[in-house]
Amino acid sequence: MDKADFIAALRVAQDAGCQFVIGVPSLGGSSTAALTPEQAHRLTTDKEGLFAELMGLTVPEYIEWRESQGSVYCSARTKQGKRCRNFIVGATWLEPDEWKAQRAEGGYCSAHGA
Ligand SMILES: [Zn+2]
Repeated sequence: MDKADFIAALRVAQDAGCQFVIGVPSLGGSSTAALTPEQAHRLTTDKEGLFAELMGLTVPEYIEWRESQGSVYCSARTKQGKRCRNFIVGATWLEPDEWKAQRAEGGYCSAHGA
């Protein structure tokens, strides 16, 4: 079945009242999101990209967000010039919007905080 047929078939189901939802892997479980027929097709070709988009993140952001459990790394650098690998105090389990805002703003861990 090609893409156009797949989407057309889902449209028929949608017109008949069917809704498509997916559990997007997120912090400690999954977040339910509604899908269009086009997005349902993308699930079969670019799942990670679709998940990132549904969460309002780019793919690298989505991976980092999940791997860090919604935490943001400290903005300080170690004496060796490496990025501090501790998390900003209080910046854990953040939802994507908050996570992006905190990441843009920066902050410090308990060792580097004022
Ligand atoms: Zn630090």
